[in-house]
Amino acid sequence: MAYVITEACIGTKNTACITACPVDCIYDGGDHYLINPSECIDCSMCMPECPVEAIYPGDEIPEELESYATKAAEFDYSNIAPGVGIN
Ligand code: SF4
Ligand code: SF4
Repeated sequence: MAYVITEACIGTKNTACITACPVDCIYDGGDHYLINPSECIDCSMCMPECPVEAIYPGDEIPEELESYATKAAEFDYSNIAPGVGIN
C-alpha cells in the first residue's frame, strides 16, 4: 500500500516530502501534492518530514480522507514530471 498525501497539504505544499523521497514519486497535483502509488516503495521517509501530518500509510488513512487515495490512484501522471517547478 502506497503512502497518501491528504487534505492538510492544501495551502501548505512546502515540498519537504519531495526532498525526502528517494524515488521521486511525488507530483504537483494542483492544490496539493500527490504520491504516485505505482512508484511509491513504502519507505516512509516522507511521512515525518511533513509539518502538517498530511501523509498517511495507505492502510492507516482516516475514513474521511480516503478520497485522497482514490484521487492519487486515478491521477494521470503521464504528462508531468515529479518534484517541484519543472512542469
Ligand atoms: S513512502 Fe517513500 S517512496 Fe513513498 S512517497 Fe514517501 S518517501 Fe516516496
Ligand atoms: S511535506 Fe506535507 S505539506 Fe509539504 S508538500 Fe509534502 S505533504 Fe504537502
